[in-house]
Amino acid sequence: MTSPAYPVRSEVSGFVSYTPGLSIEEIRARFHLDSVVKMASNENPLGCSPLAQKAIKENAAYVFRYPQSGNPRLVNALAAYHRLPAANFVPGNGSDEVIDLLVRVCPTPGEHNIVASRPSFSMYKIQSRLCGAEFREVPLRGDFSFDWRGLRAAVDHKTALVFVTTPDNPSGYCPPAADVRRFAASLPSSCLLVVDEAYMDFCRDEAAFSLLPGFAGFSNLVILRTFSKSFGLAGIRLGYGVMPAFLAERLLSAHMPFSVNILAEAAGIAALEDTVFHKTTIEAVREGRAFLARALEESECRVFPSEANFLMFQPPESRGKSARRIFETLLSKGMIIRSLHSYGLPGYLRVSVGSAEENRLFISLLREALAS
Ligand SMILES: *Cc1c(COP(=O)(O)O)cnc(C)c1O
Repeated sequence: MTSPAYPVRSEVSGFVSYTPGLSIEEIRARFHLDSVVKMASNENPLGCSPLAQKAIKENAAYVFRYPQSGNPRLVNALAAYHRLPAANFVPGNGSDEVIDLLVRVCPTPGEHNIVASRPSFSMYKIQSRLCGAEFREVPLRGDFSFDWRGLRAAVDHKTALVFVTTPDNPSGYCPPAADVRRFAASLPSSCLLVVDEAYMDFCRDEAAFSLLPGFAGFSNLVILRTFSKSFGLAGIRLGYGVMPAFLAERLLSAHMPFSVNILAEAAGIAALEDTVFHKTTIEAVREGRAFLARALEESECRVFPSEANFLMFQPPESRGKSARRIFETLLSKGMIIRSLHSYGLPGYLRVSVGSAEENRLFISLLREALAS
């Protein structure tokens, strides 16, 4: 393609857009299948909270109105949920929006840099590049744990942000909170640590792994949470950041007005109240995760310990089947999981924990694929 005459920033020309999980419709059409199961995007296997659905219906008639600026009802509900001051919360159109705001508000393009692990959630890199901030990547260690020393060494006086995902995506690895706190304390006060806790409530002991308890003791800590996973609201786009009040104010002054819409706000508040749905989800995911891990190991796959609602694994080398072939075979049978090619991990696959029935179907199709 020849370049057009109008300007397009050079950073953007090199972009590969975010690689989402394949959609059910796409695979149904491609392989002429009646039924397709998706275990690729870490969505909630139980759907979404009935109370959230009711709130969306009840608010449908009010969508002609703009939302209340700053979403105070939602912010107050979040503050009560986490027992922290409302001034520490920034809601967003998915936590993706909060990531985007941090990257645009904190570093000055061409001057500051951003540090993260490789591989890590691709939004960090895409948004950093778009902002014109240098993006420094520190490889994870062989067992997919964080190289704290390497991350610290990559940080200098021009580092604005360090991103850490706990539990990590795509491995599911989760360091004890004490390790992350030690790392936070080692950073210069000019550098913010952003801990993305998108999957934190699936971990076996949230109090031992989350940085939210003790948040107030840090002046350079941001924690990201989302409604997309355990609350089952990926499609409505709602997430939030917990951060020092000064920074929250700056982000709110720079963001798009009304990015959290009326339905998202109502659904989020109802989802926080629906403790039954949330608890049922967490229990189903922990049970399904244990079932899948055991069954994958019995199938001679190498499974990585996960505190999230997905498992990363490698098919057995002895059977001579590449991860790619297993992935393609599963697709042709109507089972969508995630190939980790786009994370630079071609030999690895990731499967989201599904419902009990979906988990059993996945294991039986995988065993067929390994045997064929
Ligand atoms: C899924 C996910 C999110 C959530 O993004 P939303 O924009 O809130 O849907 C954030 N971070 C990581 C690492 C994720 O995997």
